[in-house]
Amino acid sequence: MATFVKLSTKAKMPIVGLGTWRSPPGKVKEAVKAAIDAGYCHIDCAYVYQNENEVGEGIQEKIKEKAVKREDLFIVSKGMEELVDQGLVKALGISNFNHFQIERLLNKPGLKHKPVTNQVECHPYLTQEKLIQYCHSKGITVTAYSPLGSPDRPQAKPGDPVILEIPKIKEIAAKHKKTAAQVLIRFHIQRNVVVIPKSVTPSRIEENIQVFDFQLSDEEMATILSFNRNWRACNLFAASHSEDFPFHAEY
Ligand code: NDP
Repeated sequence: MATFVKLSTKAKMPIVGLGTWRSPPGKVKEAVKAAIDAGYCHIDCAYVYQNENEVGEGIQEKIKEKAVKREDLFIVSKGMEELVDQGLVKALGISNFNHFQIERLLNKPGLKHKPVTNQVECHPYLTQEKLIQYCHSKGITVTAYSPLGSPDRPQAKPGDPVILEIPKIKEIAAKHKKTAAQVLIRFHIQRNVVVIPKSVTPSRIEENIQVFDFQLSDEEMATILSFNRNWRACNLFAASHSEDFPFHAEY
């Protein structure tokens, strides 16, 4: 099983990365270092997470220790077209785009940089089958964010689904002697979807990349896909009046 997905630029994107949203300063540097030690080569960052300096410090320390080489790391951040022109960034992605928006972008006259990935929420309650199929048909990979259902998200309400507690997922996990988180992560890998679970807990960071030594059966994959209910942990509700709000479209 490949540990990378191939991008349209021919670059390889590691299929499991470390998420860093809400990874607090004071903890995220150690989390990044633990991730690199555990074998992660892909870190998902954003300026709005307000912790990129510390993420960078963790990466620098590991490079200085010779634990990893910069060229073997795949670092993702967000808004960056001019940096591609300057040669500082190798490829551009998009996030939370629906297929109409992607179509519009791809048809933009003079489009200089075709996106290599669309980063969207994805887990058993939001399986994104049509969007994934559409993206793959256009040579755009998909990156699954909030793969564990984002239990630490600020907008969580009592009564919201808890993806890590879905009984059937726990049952499948027990059968493979794995954890629910590992099954939730593996689900993406078997669809050739990149997945970026976030953790600041070293034991979980390690757990979340121990996902290449088991295989979900076709029946288990079908069962997980059947849970879809188009539920979003990150519904971007505050932006729902914007004309660019992406989630009114079916996909
Ligand atoms: P996740 O679904 O990755 O869940 C993270 C939560 O799960 C944390 O509370 C973490 O706790 C906990 N956790 C991690 N591993 C385990 C485990 N093995 N067992 C039990 N609990 C676990 O949520 P995110 O919303 O953070 O999504 C992942 C990443 O996706 C983000 O960090 C960010 O990089 C990206 N993202 C992008 C968005 C976009 O709009 N482009 C929007 C949202 C996310 P702890 O840290 O305490 O271990």
